[in-house]
Amino acid sequence: MSKEKIIVIGGGHAGVEAATSAARMGCEVTLITHKFSSIGEMSCNPAIGGVGKSQLAREVDAMGGLMASAADAAGIHYRVLNSTKGQAVRATRVQTDRELYKNAIQEGTKLTPNLTLLEDSVEDILIKRGKVKGVKTLKKGENLAAKIILTTGTFLNGAMYVGNKKEEGGRFGDPSSNTLSTKLRSINLRVGRLKTGTPPRLDGQSINWSGLEEQKGEEPIPSLSFIGSTKKRPRQVSCYITRTNPKTHKHIISSLNKSPLYTGVIKGVGPRYCPSIEDKVIRFADKKSHQVFLEPEGLNTRVIYPNGISTSLPQKIQEKFLRTIAGLEEAKIIRLGYAIEYDYFDPRDLKNSLETKAVQGLYFAGQINGTTGYEEAAAQGLVAGINSALSLKGEAPWVPGRHEAYIGVLINDLVNLGAKEPYRMFTSRAEYRLILREDNADLRLTEKAKKLNLISKERWGEYSQKKQEKEKEMIKLKKRTLKPTTKQALSFKRKTKENIRKTKSYHELLKRPGVRYTDLPEHNKTLSFDIINKIEAEIKYEGYVLRQKEEIKKLQRNENTPIPEKINFNKIVGLSSEVKQKLTEAKPDNIAGASRLPGITPAALSLLLVHLKKEARNPKVKA
Ligand code: FAD
Repeated sequence: MSKEKIIVIGGGHAGVEAATSAARMGCEVTLITHKFSSIGEMSCNPAIGGVGKSQLAREVDAMGGLMASAADAAGIHYRVLNSTKGQAVRATRVQTDRELYKNAIQEGTKLTPNLTLLEDSVEDILIKRGKVKGVKTLKKGENLAAKIILTTGTFLNGAMYVGNKKEEGGRFGDPSSNTLSTKLRSINLRVGRLKTGTPPRLDGQSINWSGLEEQKGEEPIPSLSFIGSTKKRPRQVSCYITRTNPKTHKHIISSLNKSPLYTGVIKGVGPRYCPSIEDKVIRFADKKSHQVFLEPEGLNTRVIYPNGISTSLPQKIQEKFLRTIAGLEEAKIIRLGYAIEYDYFDPRDLKNSLETKAVQGLYFAGQINGTTGYEEAAAQGLVAGINSALSLKGEAPWVPGRHEAYIGVLINDLVNLGAKEPYRMFTSRAEYRLILREDNADLRLTEKAKKLNLISKERWGEYSQKKQEKEKEMIKLKKRTLKPTTKQALSFKRKTKENIRKTKSYHELLKRPGVRYTDLPEHNKTLSFDIINKIEAEIKYEGYVLRQKEEIKKLQRNENTPIPEKINFNKIVGLSSEVKQKLTEAKPDNIAGASRLPGITPAALSLLLVHLKKEARNPKVKA
């Protein structure tokens, strides 16, 4: 019987979602991690969400995952990013109390049935005839299992750098996993090195806050999770903004010969979209200053996270450049900024299910696959957890399509394109972002989660009730009308500055970009923000979403259309030169292959299809 269990290695963001999802599906799961106390630890900034990432966190939530509810239980500062732009790119970001977040995750794992926690270090993975058999740990020895999910983050061969000082470690205060790394390197998997970094942590009492720009949290407080009440939030606090300046940059530039990133000591590739301050001053040499967000790490701590100045320069230089920044003239460093370099495995060696192609029953999820970020890790953990459980039950894997979820975009990108640099999610990676909004993640996924046995009765009940309420209101909005000359119409006009010449349904009025649900006369004041957001997005995007759904259907019909080997993409009228170049380099075999290339839009695919059809009708015309 013990052979039929799943072992998850690592209690980070991927490991927790992997272990709890497989356990929720009824499998016997053991989560082995170095320290119980660091389950759910945030290695870097204690913030969840942001553009592209909140969509992932809410999708994980819709599937019953822990991340979003833990962020809400610990949320001390909320922001809705891109709130003036369309809902497709709108994103919630939660600054959390690091300790409260960890507590919520640890409680969530403890309350999950079928899940056993084991504090130990995995030293070896037991493999027999290409199939996993179990693991060998430092204290307990052999532990057998039919499926192993590896979620060891930055710990494999991890090395930390501050200036020319190098130390082995998976992150500050934690050991690296070198024996395990050696074992994995002996398997037929492509391995590489990546790097990331973190800023110095500052003592809030040594910062001069006066004169700094205050950034208040959102009011009323939004939610990241689809369940739970906003009334149960911790006390809310402000963040502050300061900036680097030419003096700061001068110190950094004159010390680059002491930065392991620039002296060639660190060979791994770093996250392009989350660069160190050294990278920023070189890459954006024309910029005279960069924003630094001063974010509290919690309610009962003095630790401040200066977001935007991650560095691995030596201590003296870190101290020197901080002194040049307004408000930080006297700032005391609690912990130095450092860079970390680690092994990652090429995700192209994984199947869609996140099982390795080389070893049956061995799954990889999280930063080990070349991604960066808690949400990306959690999403992969969920997928690996679900698929290991499905595989144990003899069922086909669950992999959402690119049009169904950001999780689908993430997995599809990773297994097809790999991760030459740390992979972070962006809305621009999703072709169908008008459909994949953060407001509708539950409508897209919760029914699937129920079928997979992933969610509780309570969540299903809450979801069904919300869906019903939304649908009822949508019907009302179509039925109710506003006549131009009525008192209500005048009041609506005053509020919105919108003209009404003819009788219009509320549904038609809400389609107008400047009209909000709460502008409508006699709107339902008891509806939650979540339902209002869904209604507004659904109505405002109706036309675009229909068009995208048509595109998806068209693409699905044409997925297998072959692309001739000798095609000259440069001859296709209407394609941008960037798209032509990408297609020429990648030479996809068929439309499905072309659709997976980053930057290839549905419009570009349509042009390609028209070209291929024209050619098929007239084969004499040279491709
Ligand atoms: P982790 O959260 O790292 O969890 C790995 C877990 O595995 C740990 O609990 C560890 O104890 C356990 N483990 C490892 N080996 C073993 C073993 N042999 N036996 C038992 N347990 C084991 N992300 C960003 O988005 N932006 C950033 O700016 C950023 N900066 C970062 C800076 C640093 C210094 C670090 C370390 C990470 C940073 N990250 C950043 C990345 C982010 O922290 C990770 O992407 C995320 O935590 C990955 O989650 P994970 O579950 O894959 O791994």
